[in-house]
Amino acid sequence: MADLLSYLNPEQRAAVTLPDEPALILAGAGSGKTRVLTTRIAWLIQTGRINPAQVLAVTFTNKAAREMIARLSALLPLNPRGMWIGTFHGLCNRLLRVHCRAAGLPATFQILDIADQLSALKRLLKGLNLDSEKYPPKQLQNFINHAKEEGLRPSKMDVDNPFNRKFVELYEAYEIQCQREGAVDFAELLLRSYELLAREVSLREHYQARFQHILVDEFQDTNRLQYQWLKLLAGSKGAVFAVGDDDQSIYGFRGANVGNMLDFQREFEVRNLIKLEQNYRSHGHILDAANGLIANNAQRLGKNLYTEAGAGEPVRVYRAETDTREANWLGEEIHALIEQGGALDQIALLYRSNAQSRVFEHMLVSQGIPYRVYGGLRFFERQEIKHALAYLRLLDNLDDDTSFLRVVNFPTRGIGARALEQLNDMARLHQCSLAAAVTYVGGKTGANLIAFVQFIEQMRHATQAMSLPEVVEYITQTSGLIPHYETEREGQDRIENLRELVNAAVAFVAENGDELNTPARSIPLAPGATPAAQLPVNESAQISLTAEATDGMTPLSAFLSHASLEAGDNQAQTGQNAVQLMTVHAAKGLEFNAVFITGLEEGLFPHQNSTNDANSLEEERRLMYVAITRAKKRLYLSFAESRMLHGQTRYNVGSRFIDELPTEGLKWLTSKRDSFAQNSMTRSRDENSWGRNWFAKKSTQEVRVAPSALEARQRTAATGFWIGQAVFHTKFGEGTVAALEGNGAEARAQVNFSRHGAKWLALAVAKLQPIDD
Ligand code: ATP
Ligand code: MG
Repeated sequence: MADLLSYLNPEQRAAVTLPDEPALILAGAGSGKTRVLTTRIAWLIQTGRINPAQVLAVTFTNKAAREMIARLSALLPLNPRGMWIGTFHGLCNRLLRVHCRAAGLPATFQILDIADQLSALKRLLKGLNLDSEKYPPKQLQNFINHAKEEGLRPSKMDVDNPFNRKFVELYEAYEIQCQREGAVDFAELLLRSYELLAREVSLREHYQARFQHILVDEFQDTNRLQYQWLKLLAGSKGAVFAVGDDDQSIYGFRGANVGNMLDFQREFEVRNLIKLEQNYRSHGHILDAANGLIANNAQRLGKNLYTEAGAGEPVRVYRAETDTREANWLGEEIHALIEQGGALDQIALLYRSNAQSRVFEHMLVSQGIPYRVYGGLRFFERQEIKHALAYLRLLDNLDDDTSFLRVVNFPTRGIGARALEQLNDMARLHQCSLAAAVTYVGGKTGANLIAFVQFIEQMRHATQAMSLPEVVEYITQTSGLIPHYETEREGQDRIENLRELVNAAVAFVAENGDELNTPARSIPLAPGATPAAQLPVNESAQISLTAEATDGMTPLSAFLSHASLEAGDNQAQTGQNAVQLMTVHAAKGLEFNAVFITGLEEGLFPHQNSTNDANSLEEERRLMYVAITRAKKRLYLSFAESRMLHGQTRYNVGSRFIDELPTEGLKWLTSKRDSFAQNSMTRSRDENSWGRNWFAKKSTQEVRVAPSALEARQRTAATGFWIGQAVFHTKFGEGTVAALEGNGAEARAQVNFSRHGAKWLALAVAKLQPIDD
C-alpha cells in the first residue's frame, strides 16, 4: 500500500484515500487527476475495502479504459480485466446485453454508429416519401440525438410549432423502425439503460448495492442524461468520485454541461472537494501560456496551477505565408526532432478541424515520415469493413434492415433500386423487416430476393460451429466480398483490410478470454450471463466479467458491438511509432513531448461560428487550453496567412489566442510583421539548431541544412525503397515510387506505373522489385 501512495503528493494522496462518500477532485490539466482516479481504484482493492466487481469507472474513451485496465494490472496482482471500466456507451451496452429482455431489446441488437444512424434516417425519409431538402437528415439526426440526450421520448416533447411537430413524428417513426430492426444508436444506449434502471426497481437496487464505488474521469464533459444515469446508479449512498476540470469543458456544443459539477456538489452534498495545483506534465513556459490564456475566460470555478519542472524552453511561434509553407516547416521541425532522438509517437500535430489534416498528410507522405491520423476514416468505418460487418450482423439478426440494404446487392446480384422499392413497400404493408418481406414480392425479383435470404441462411448454418475468427474469414470469402475486390483495380487494399478484420477477430478473442473460444454464435455460459431474474443480489468476487462488454453476448455479437463502439471512438491507439495527427478534441487527456498547434488563425481557431458569441468563444479558449496543456516539453504554435480549405483560399490573420499568451515566454521564429519570405532568409542560427538532446536547454550552433538527396534516401531506406526509385511489379509492370508511408508490416508505397497509373501498394504483400539502385 505504501508503494501505491508513495507516487503521489499529499493532496493526491488525500484524494485517493478519501472515505466512501461523494467527492469532487477539481483540478487543472496535468495535475494527476487520472492518476489519482486509477490509484484510488487500486488502493480500494488492495486494502480490501472492496472487490473488483464492486467498481464502476467511467472514462472518456475506449483507449482511456484500456489504459486504465493496463495500469491496474501493473499495480495489482489480480486480473482486473473483468471490471466495469469503460465509456458510458460501452458500459450501457454491457448492461443492456445482460438485461436485453427487460430492456425490450432482442439479444442480438445491433449498434448503429453515427453513419449508420444517418443512413437509417435517410431510408426512413425515403420510405415516407419525404423530401430530404425539406427535412435534412442531418438536422433530424441532431434533433433526435439531442432529444435523447435530454432524456426525452417523442410523447414527452413539445409539439407546438408545426416544424417541430413533424420532427417529433419522424423521431417516433424512427424509433419504430429501430425497434423493428433491433437497432440501437449511441444516444439510445444511454437512454435505454437509464430507463431500464429507472423502471426496474430490483435491478436498480441490485446494481446500487453492487457498485460501491463509481468513479468518473473528465466529469466536466458529462451531459445531462449521463449525469442522471450516474445519479440513479449511485443511489442514496452516492459514493461517486468525480474528477474534472471546468477549464477543459469542450463538448458544450454536444450537450455537455459544466453545470453538472455544481449540481453534483449540491445534490450529492459533496463535503470532499479537493483541488490539485501542481502540474506534473508541462515545463514552466508552457504552463504559463496555459494559465495566461485561460485567465481571459470569465466563467471559471477558479484554480491555480504551478510546476516545479523549471521554465524549460520558450513556446515557439511560427507564421507562414501559406498552408503549404506551414506544412513544410512542420516537416523540417519534425525531422530535426527525430534526428535528435525524439520518438515519433511523442510528437503530435493538432488542428481545430479534420479538414486541415490533408495538407499535413501530403507533406508527411512526401517526406517519408510515418504518421497516423486519428478521427479520420477509421478502420471499422471503411467501406469494405462495413460490408463485412453487415454480413456478420445478418448472421446474427436477419431483421437488421440497415445491414440488409447495405449488402443485398453487394457484390451485385441483379437486385436493383426498383426491386428494393417493391420490397420496401411490402415490408411497410406487412409491418415487417425487409428479410421477412421477400416472400411477398413476386416474379423474378422476388426469386432473387428469396435467394439472397437463403444464401444468408446457408452461411448462418455453415458457420454454426466455427470460432469467431473462422466465421469472419468464412464470411469475407463466401459472401463474395474478397472475390469481388480481386476483380477491382484498386481492390488490393480492401482485401488487405478484410484480412485485417480476421486479425482483429483473433485479437479480440485473445483479449477477451477463454469464454469467447466457444463457437462464435452460441451464448457463453459465463456467470455474468445470468438472466436478469436470477441475478444474485450479492455477487461475489469471483464473478467473471471481461474488459469488453461480453457477458450475455455471443462472441460474434460481442465483436460486433466492439466494432461499432470503436468506430465511434475518436481517440488515438497506443504503441504506434508514428507522428500523431488529431483534432484538439481527440487529444483530450493525452500527453506528448512535443506538440504543434497548427492553423492558429482567426476564423479557424477560434472557429468563426464562435467569434460573435461570448460563451462559444470561451469554449474555444478552453479548447486552446486543452491543446496547450498536452505538451510536456516543447510547444509550437503556427498559423498561415493564406489557406486552402473546402476548395477556397482564405486569407487570415493570426489567432487572438496567440496575443493572449504572456509574451515573455514566446519566441517568434519568424518576425511578427515581416513577410515569410524575408523572414526565412534571416532566421537566426539558433532557431534552426538543435542539441544532441532535443530538449537540451543549451542548443549547439550547428546550422541545419535542407536534407540532401542522400539523407532523404537514408530516411526512407528503412522500407527498402525510396522516393524516385524505379521498381517492377509482376502485374502492373514498371513504375516509380512516388510516396512512402508507414513502416514495418504497415509500410505502403505509392507507385506511378507507366501503364497503370498511380497505385498504393502494401509493401509486405505486393512483390515490388527495385530495378536499379
Ligand atoms: P488532464 O487534465 O490533461 O486529463 P490529468 O490531471 O488527468 O490531466 P494525469 O494525466 O493524471 O493528469 O497526469 C499528468 C502527468 O503527470 C502524467 O504523466 C502523470 O503520470 C504525471 N503525474 C501525476 N502525478 C504525479 C506525481 N505525484 N509525481 C510524478 N508524476 C505525476
Ligand atoms: Mg486526465
